Amino acid sequence: MSNRRVLQFEEGNSSMKVLLGGKGANLAEMTNAGLAVPPGFTITTETCQEYYINEQKLPEGLFDEVKDALELIELKKQQFFGDDVNPLLVSVRSGSVTSMPGMMDTILNLGLNDRTVEGLSKQMNNSRFAYDCYRRLIQMFGSVVFEIEMKLFEDIFEETKNSFGVKVDKDLKVEGLKLVINEYKLLIEEKTNKSFPQDVYNQLTLAVEAVFKSWNNQRAVVYRQLYNIPDQQCTAVNIQSMVFGNMGDDSGTGVLFTRNPSTGENSLFGEFLTNAQGEDVVAGIRTPQPIENLKTEMPNVYNDLVKIARQLETRYKDMQDIEFTIEKGQLYVLQTRSGKRTAQAAVKLAVQFVAEGILSKEEAINRIEVEHLEQLLHSTIDPQATLEVIAKGLPASPGSATGHVVFDADVATEWVKHGKKVVLVSHETSPEDIHGVIAAEGVLTTNGGMTSHAAVVARGMGKPCICGCEEIKIDPERKRFYIGNTTIVEGDWITLDGTTGRVINGTVALKEPEISPELLKLLEWADSIKHLKVLTNADTPEDAAKARDFKAEGIGLCRTEHMFMSTERLPVVQEMILAQSLEERHRALDKLLPMQQSDFEGIFEAMHGFPVTIRLLDPPLHEFLPKIEELLEKQFSLKEPEVNEKHEQLIRKVRNLQEVNPMLGQRGCRLGILFPEIYRMQVIAIFRAAVKLIRQKINVIPEVMIPLVGHVNELEIMRKLVDEAAEEVFLEEGLRVNYKVGTMIEVPRAALTADEIAEHADFFSFGTNDLTQMTYGYSRDDAEGKFLSYYLEHKVIPTNPFQVLDTEGVGALIKCAVKKGRAQKTALKTGICGEHGGNKESIFFCHMTGLNYISCSPYRVPMARIAAAQAQLFYKTTSLEYNYNV
Ligand code: ADP
Ligand code: MG
Ligand code: MG
Repeated sequence: MSNRRVLQFEEGNSSMKVLLGGKGANLAEMTNAGLAVPPGFTITTETCQEYYINEQKLPEGLFDEVKDALELIELKKQQFFGDDVNPLLVSVRSGSVTSMPGMMDTILNLGLNDRTVEGLSKQMNNSRFAYDCYRRLIQMFGSVVFEIEMKLFEDIFEETKNSFGVKVDKDLKVEGLKLVINEYKLLIEEKTNKSFPQDVYNQLTLAVEAVFKSWNNQRAVVYRQLYNIPDQQCTAVNIQSMVFGNMGDDSGTGVLFTRNPSTGENSLFGEFLTNAQGEDVVAGIRTPQPIENLKTEMPNVYNDLVKIARQLETRYKDMQDIEFTIEKGQLYVLQTRSGKRTAQAAVKLAVQFVAEGILSKEEAINRIEVEHLEQLLHSTIDPQATLEVIAKGLPASPGSATGHVVFDADVATEWVKHGKKVVLVSHETSPEDIHGVIAAEGVLTTNGGMTSHAAVVARGMGKPCICGCEEIKIDPERKRFYIGNTTIVEGDWITLDGTTGRVINGTVALKEPEISPELLKLLEWADSIKHLKVLTNADTPEDAAKARDFKAEGIGLCRTEHMFMSTERLPVVQEMILAQSLEERHRALDKLLPMQQSDFEGIFEAMHGFPVTIRLLDPPLHEFLPKIEELLEKQFSLKEPEVNEKHEQLIRKVRNLQEVNPMLGQRGCRLGILFPEIYRMQVIAIFRAAVKLIRQKINVIPEVMIPLVGHVNELEIMRKLVDEAAEEVFLEEGLRVNYKVGTMIEVPRAALTADEIAEHADFFSFGTNDLTQMTYGYSRDDAEGKFLSYYLEHKVIPTNPFQVLDTEGVGALIKCAVKKGRAQKTALKTGICGEHGGNKESIFFCHMTGLNYISCSPYRVPMARIAAAQAQLFYKTTSLEYNYNV
């Protein structure tokens, strides 16, 4: 703990985020860089931690420190807090370590009361302005400190406007504002039995405490869970002298992104409102003007903004999101932070910054959030598709989303729980709706602009969003919206095209994603850095070709059972399983062989020159047979005795194959050992395909993989089978093919006895799905629905081990197997396949454990290539070096 709880902006800098929060640290940095930042100071995050440790009591002595700091501001501004003639007003602003836009509270115009408001009014010679500030203060204070619903204040304001016959806020005169203020005060008294504090220091204390409390409001808690932000971080509080954007038409407030956060284009992007204060822009209550308009309205301010944008970008080496206020033609900067952006923009910006010499290639690679990249590989609306476009709004966050229309965040979550896809349609979203945005595929709002809450949050989450779509009229009570003659009711399908702002009736055909030139460049850089090879899991020639487009360096897992599932093959597979004699089974296998062979030919061809790891049949056989319940049902409708007899046979066989724990049953190499003719057929198909393609001058590298080995003897028997069948083909064809035989390590016993197993294996592939299942003893198919979600919610275990590799448990087995395996056979190739191959933390683990490759689904290959490069940059060591050290 540092002993000071309060630091002036001059005393901090941008590296002090943990202590000062992001907002405070950056305000300090900008102050010291000589930018026009209104003077102020920060109460540290540690003070907030103290507050929570101290059972939510403000630490003793804090008030004195705040008072001293405030005196310094008074000296600088020559205005005095609570002074009747020359009052100082301040804002009290939350500011967490990690940016959580709009999740916590801020109060403006603190220091006004019935007397100081008169002082301000005289001093500025503008009583309308002074009373407008006072009204805003009571409203924000009432909602933040006294937790009175904002809507109740808004209703009072609207009613008064109506009674004076005015439409826009700024036309309400002083008399009206005074009435509003009185009503506000009454509302507070009625709701809390307390009055709005006239003592300005009391205002300040209550406001600071309210900001501390807002760290634990529901929306902040949800946001932290979503982005894995630690609960202990806490928030700082910034107390800053006010500047006023509501002093007339030469004043205003706005938000500026230094480059386009949607596309990454290098041009200013932002919005402003004249004669407005504070959160009017972000809240989406009035639709603001685009920043370009400032060029003609206030050219000097615009030029200053351009300069500041460049200055801040160079200082922070990143695109910035700036909040500013203009007071009588003078520009003030109130906040800067790294701007949230779409994945598309992130990639484009990284490459731009390298070209401009702002970042090195390595820094650019590190900048990419790999989870984010997945968005780039989402499908988009096919330009050829015929669309019924019903409305157009602002293209606030790109991509396309289709779903059932819902009008309420709670309804959204409810429907999604029941497996439906929804699009959230609403006037605007506020931080209270965050759970609805999380649940929805996309968001459509009628109010608000490109920097409104909905837009910023959706971009951050990579969800399509259309804002300011004023043409549609929502009737939330009747759960419908109108557009022209069309009525869309809750549950109807609509599609959003966030890239163009089009709202489309119904569902729409989507197009496969393409890789942008900038992403290609980044991937090239990543390949020159990374040491892990990135392979893919692909079962079909199409997937294999797709993965090659994404530069997969081979197939790490080709699951042959998927080839058995097509409608024309399944009957043959069933014939094979149900065969009464070996002869009958051979007849079925003979039919399957050419089918398998042609699959392998297609895959080998797509992977020309790269290894293809083929796993022999793995799942329990009953998965290929009809369900017993269906068979029993059908039995009663069968009349002919002969048909009936056959059907009963089938039922007996299916019953026979039933197991209590099929995932621990007769599957994997256990099948191969009991039914060697099945594996033999597969091996022959593999090598016939290989020989055929080699004759066509295609370079084939087959690797045969035996699943579910637990004891070395299993592998020894299976390897003999593979070698013999391969030899047979080579003899028959008069041509040899180089190949490898290896095993999956997915049974804990195999990992523990990896030295023995390595004697018979050329490679290990860690099947982390099964390995996790068996290490934890969780059934992957049941856990989620039964207890795992509870476990995760209540933090019984930290993460879902089926998504993020459990490095301590499962990881220990992997490390053990690599170590023992390599001790036995130095050239042993090791890799990982399974869901984890596409997850960043797991990739880092694989790099550090010295694996040779990871294998993931085709669409995750680009992401994995970048993550593998990041791992190398992070550990600054190659996997091989690590290897020799273990
Ligand atoms: P958030 O974290 O929700 O963005 P902020 O603390 O940034 O909240 O406050 C929101 C807005 O309030 C700012 O963008 C700015 O327009 C206004 N504001 C905050 N402090 C001041 C101030 N000292 N003077 C004028 N406006 C302010
Ligand atoms: Mg802000
Ligand atoms: Mg498995």
